[in-house]
Amino acid sequence: MRFLNWAVDELGFGRNTKYQKQYLNETNIRTAVYMSFIVMILEVWMIIRYVQQRPGRTFLEYYDGESNYLILFSSALIIFAFAPRYTKGGTVTNLCRLTASLVIFNDIIMIVRNAAANIQDKSPLQVVFGIKYHILLLILATAYLIYEICFLSAGRKNDLYGQFMIIVFSLISVGFGIETSVYDTGRDRQILCFVTMVLFAACMLIWRPYVSVLMLGMSFLYFYSLWVPRLQELDAAGGKVKDGDTINFFIFWIVLVMISFSIYHQRRHESAKDEKLIAANESLNRAATMDDLTDIHNMFYFNQETVEILNDPATDVGKKIFLFLNIENFKTYNDQYGYQSGNDYLRKLAILIKDTFEGDPVARQSDDHFVVLTDTDKVDERTEKIRSVVRGADADIYLELKVGAYRPSSADIDPRVAIDYARYACGLIKNNYDHNYKEYDQAADDLFHKNQYIVNHIDRAVQEGHIRVYYQPVVWADTKELCGLEALARWDDPKYGFLSPGIFIPVLEEYRQIHKLDACVFEQVCRDLRAALDDGRKMVPVSLNFSRLDFELMDATGLLEEYIQKYDIPKDYIHVEITESALTENMTLLSDAIDRFHKDGFSLWLDDFGSGYSSLNVLKDFDFDVLKIDMKFLTNFEHNEKSRTILNTIIQLADSIGMLSLTEGVETEEAADFLEKAGCGRLQGYLFGKPMPRAELREKIDNGTYTVSDRLI
Ligand code: C2E
Ligand code: MG
Ligand code: MG
Repeated sequence: MRFLNWAVDELGFGRNTKYQKQYLNETNIRTAVYMSFIVMILEVWMIIRYVQQRPGRTFLEYYDGESNYLILFSSALIIFAFAPRYTKGGTVTNLCRLTASLVIFNDIIMIVRNAAANIQDKSPLQVVFGIKYHILLLILATAYLIYEICFLSAGRKNDLYGQFMIIVFSLISVGFGIETSVYDTGRDRQILCFVTMVLFAACMLIWRPYVSVLMLGMSFLYFYSLWVPRLQELDAAGGKVKDGDTINFFIFWIVLVMISFSIYHQRRHESAKDEKLIAANESLNRAATMDDLTDIHNMFYFNQETVEILNDPATDVGKKIFLFLNIENFKTYNDQYGYQSGNDYLRKLAILIKDTFEGDPVARQSDDHFVVLTDTDKVDERTEKIRSVVRGADADIYLELKVGAYRPSSADIDPRVAIDYARYACGLIKNNYDHNYKEYDQAADDLFHKNQYIVNHIDRAVQEGHIRVYYQPVVWADTKELCGLEALARWDDPKYGFLSPGIFIPVLEEYRQIHKLDACVFEQVCRDLRAALDDGRKMVPVSLNFSRLDFELMDATGLLEEYIQKYDIPKDYIHVEITESALTENMTLLSDAIDRFHKDGFSLWLDDFGSGYSSLNVLKDFDFDVLKIDMKFLTNFEHNEKSRTILNTIIQLADSIGMLSLTEGVETEEAADFLEKAGCGRLQGYLFGKPMPRAELREKIDNGTYTVSDRLI
């Protein structure tokens, strides 16, 4: 069985891929270039020799009588012109058309003359048989002319066409080889012409071995059938038949078949290797330039492509614009349907964006962020099209397309910087329901540089004491006595002056630098508490704001412990505030930290309750001591009956699950009264005091503005 498989494969019955077939075909045609060249030289030589051997005869007389060498020369010329243009392509040229036309014209003259000379004394069939090589040449030259005019200009390539051409050429060559050698045998000469021609044909027709066996077999047997009677005639006439010749003849046949086998398998092997290399190269290229998830380009490719476009002299840079596309609230989609569905959604979205901005560079940057370089006049219509699909994607989840844009100021802008600007502009309209599109303008530029400044200067600000802690009072709802303080960071910068946390906290979080600020605040608070203790002042607990990232970027719990020990602060005086939105990501890290805070005996406060989407889940999953109700419930409190109902419900809910409550943002007496009646224990807001420096707070305690409560809980 194994032998059978091997034999079947050796004979060329194995499957070849499309690439292999093409490779084999093209190598044959490339070989035809050399073979046809040799035939051309050979035939010119033959013609010259023919004329020289017949003193007194001119070339024109040769042309009138014999024309065999001319037919061979012409067919070789056609192949010599056809083969390189078939493999390499090119444009239609007059020279090539002229060559084909001349060959056709000349051939028709020869056909007519030959037919006219023979039509009287030969049957029509004999006449046609007499001009068979002329007919084959006519077919060959006409096929070439058709290729030049129809195929080449359309850039089309057909394997069969190439094979057809070299088969016709081989038929002419081998046919002549057979005729000449049979004739030569009659004159007691060698059969070299047949041997040469069949060798040419074999070199050009390296096909599946069984085809080679058949074709060579047919040629050899046909020749043999004509040759042997000639040999016998020669014998009868007293010539000397060379016995060895017939043996050598068959040996030559076998050797030629074997060589064809070997070349075929070698080429097949090479083509398989080539194909693997090409595939490997393609996959490497893909990995370097395509985005894994969505199968559109990645940023590496986008950057290269946009540099080329912007630097193309044909590009009007003033009309180009970089876009940064972000799907707002995509995280909720992921949470609700799982990552797999989220990925499917991103894939569809990528195709939509790519199709909508057809012809423009489009790539996925990361997550649900895509980038585009397009023309300014196309932006509105196209982003609107994508937006309508995004909005309609899911009835239950609010999804919105946010677009940030940047107009490049010159062709040599670094695309990475341009995208950074567009992304930044997009960030400015985050969570802003009124704006879905934002261009990077002067104001954004100022802010951008301010943000860069913040990131680059946080270390210096910490070292040089530009970070200050302000304290905002928290009071008991019933007595309005001071029962706590919230530590809030302020940045007093030598260049920008007073910076509010609303500006620097999101930036520090985005660039993962927030832990530096928080560590600094924690230490200052502990130091201030130590100073108050040393002064023998009556104290209230201070609550510290923790960022979700603190637990990733540093050992937040360990650090707090360290400061507490260093400054010797009783744990009752520190409250830990963790904002509600922090609890929707990276759950394990946070819940470990929460457990540890509890174990260490800190009071845990859930900040900004009600500001996010998963408030109730957070209550269910985590253990907090105090609920800080977000100040958004107090906006427009006087005119909003619903807010009151909601506040009442939250306070009761907190009470029923054993939590204390605090409401932030209390600005009016009315709100304070309402909250007290509703059962909210603590209040915080401008009504009782804005965040203030430690010295001011001391002063206000000293002058009686605040009475420090004895009650701690
Ligand atoms: P938060 O923790 O919810 O802090 C309360 C914010 O509301 C403070 O803003 C405070 O000034 C403000 N506020 C208090 N009462 C009222 C009021 O009656 N009306 C109005 N309109 N606002 C009031 P601030 O100080 O600008 O801080 C903003 C946010 O920045 C904080 O929100 C907190 O999330 C964050 N933050 C502040 N300091 C730090 C810090 O040291 N570390 C961390 N990680 N975050 C901080
Ligand atoms: Mg807070
Ligand atoms: Mg808050």
